[in-house]
Amino acid sequence: MAMLMDGRAVGQRMLDACAEKVKAIVAARGTRPCLATVLVGDDPASVTYTRMKRTRSEAVGMRSLKVELAAASTTEEVVARVAALAADPAVHGILVQHPVPRHVDERRVFETVPSAKDVDGLTLTSFGGVSFGLPGVGYGSCTPEGIVRLLDAYQVELSGRRAVVIGRSPILGKPMAMMLLARDATVTICHSRTRDLGAIVAEADVVVAAVGKARFVQGAWIKPGAVVVDAGYNAGNIGDVDFEPAAERASLITPVPGGVGPVTLAVLIDHTATATARQLGVTL
Ligand code: NAP
Repeated sequence: MAMLMDGRAVGQRMLDACAEKVKAIVAARGTRPCLATVLVGDDPASVTYTRMKRTRSEAVGMRSLKVELAAASTTEEVVARVAALAADPAVHGILVQHPVPRHVDERRVFETVPSAKDVDGLTLTSFGGVSFGLPGVGYGSCTPEGIVRLLDAYQVELSGRRAVVIGRSPILGKPMAMMLLARDATVTICHSRTRDLGAIVAEADVVVAAVGKARFVQGAWIKPGAVVVDAGYNAGNIGDVDFEPAAERASLITPVPGGVGPVTLAVLIDHTATATARQLGVTL
């Protein structure tokens, strides 16, 4: 049986370190880092996610600012609100909860966040900075960066290993592939048009599932001894990997919940501390 990668424990260690960073920033400048969460509409899962993000930021000593906009808001209205946060020196990080209602141009809204405050790592600049390996240019997308931190916490060797990422979304699959590439893995990106997915996954030393379909990744696909990361989060707390049969073959596997989610959240908080320090000229 595989060993579980405990995202809650790793995430808590990261949050404890953030609390120390916040103390250092407050001591140096007398300013508390502030994370603004922007929620458009009232999707129940998004309401929960934004609340958790604010709660965690406050738990490490940050301020949080709750911005809620009606589901019927236009792109211009959302952009205007985000632009106001971008111009506010008391706000250090801006998170626009994905997804926004369909009629809103999400990319335009994301691009309104200046890269210095893009703590969720979703702008073109952040993706470019991560893909080009430019330190200090934007921030990594939180979920893939959390996955890398989790793999590091369990000392998973990535250099030269075969990694398969299932999913190519701009938020998860694509930046995940770039981050694994930056760590010298040999990366294959799979998507809905991929043929013989099972055969490709069967060659992977590291599998990242980011599909959004419950129990989609079959246990029989997993190479014995592979490391399996399940980023999926489907109704009923079910991941994208068929957990039990996959765990029988993997060496390490993330549970759902308690795997990728907590480290994702911790990365967001950590980025907010870093963004504040950079904006205020504090060396952490
Ligand atoms: P998404 O935007 O819907 O992307 C899903 C990806 O899966 C797409 O690239 C799609 O391919 C691919 N796909 C769909 N069906 C497939 C199939 N039959 N074979 C292979 N690939 C297939 O979703 P997302 O935002 O990346 O999220 C993915 C999952 O991660 C969801 O369960 C989401 O809830 C979860 N998530 C978790 C966190 C966290 O903090 N834990 C954060 C974000 C997302 P095409 O591009 O070809 O359509």
